[in-house]
Amino acid sequence: ESKNRGRRCYSFFSSELDDKNKRKIELESEVRNALANNELFMVYQTKNKISSGEVYGFEALMRWESPRLGFVSPEEFISAAEEIGVIDKLGEFALYEACRDLQKFQNLVSQPLAMAVNVSMYQLTNSDIVGTVQKVINDTGINPSVLELEITESMLAQRLEEVQPVLNSLLGLGVSLSIDDFGTGYSSLSYLTRFPVSALKIDRCFITDMVDNRSDATLTHTVITMAHKLGLKVVAEGIEDEDQLALLRVYGCDLGQGYLFTKPLNYVQMTGHLKSQQEKPDWAI
Ligand code: C2E
Ligand code: MG
Ligand code: MG
Ligand code: MG
Repeated sequence: ESKNRGRRCYSFFSSELDDKNKRKIELESEVRNALANNELFMVYQTKNKISSGEVYGFEALMRWESPRLGFVSPEEFISAAEEIGVIDKLGEFALYEACRDLQKFQNLVSQPLAMAVNVSMYQLTNSDIVGTVQKVINDTGINPSVLELEITESMLAQRLEEVQPVLNSLLGLGVSLSIDDFGTGYSSLSYLTRFPVSALKIDRCFITDMVDNRSDATLTHTVITMAHKLGLKVVAEGIEDEDQLALLRVYGCDLGQGYLFTKPLNYVQMTGHLKSQQEKPDWAI
């Protein structure tokens, strides 16, 4: 409340604020009601097996279409939601939607599917994430083994000690954890052996130029080899063309995500995509 009042006073002088601050204040006041106003929804991007192209599962990504601000990118509104303390509500919404939609997607295909949901560091440190995940599992009846939580490397590396017990409790529920945006966190690799993770997601920035850039290719190959030695699966993010896919196949990368397979699709679009894949897979080799 005091935070609120502070912001309101501040906006009285809005003509003196730079655009960035104005935008921030606008976002923070709008995102507060976005959930209640039904402005948020989830889209899904497939994770595909690199070897065969078969759909392995999904990543759930949140979207916000604000009547006042238009489309706002998740990078912007997630940090606004963290700032004003509503990220736990948004995160709970994401978990419920993703688990319910996964069960409907599963009815359309024969192979078992997994669902990954992004979890912000604030949810791990400032909310009862364990209770929330437990509630979602109970309420939706989803098998916890198909639910994966993605945590960004940079955040995790900074506060590993603090969140380690929370991560262990989450694992105790039977869900799995993966490290998102791997390679961008400037962190030591040693924490990987202490962190009970089952997959690494190599950040898109290494995949984008890997075909032409030798050091990006070497780094990607090395991460895949190392991860496999530690018993981890590797997901490559941002695969946009066949050459990248071919190279990742040579390197033995397990899974991939990117516009080459599918862009993030809403529920209806994904339903159509899965049906068409059952009839005639685009990616079978
Ligand atoms: P992320 O988890 O690393 O998600 C991958 C991002 O890469 C997504 O951006 C996706 O749309 C984009 N992407 C996927 N394939 C390609 C490709 O081939 N080329 C290009 N150029 N981009 C690709 P998006 O949806 O804008 O999300 C951005 C970030 O926002 C996510 O990064 C994640 O950190 C965060 N985010 C999204 N939804 C949620 C959520 O529900 N909760 C939380 N805490 N964070 C979320
Ligand atoms: Mg992610
Ligand atoms: Mg990522
Ligand atoms: Mg990212």
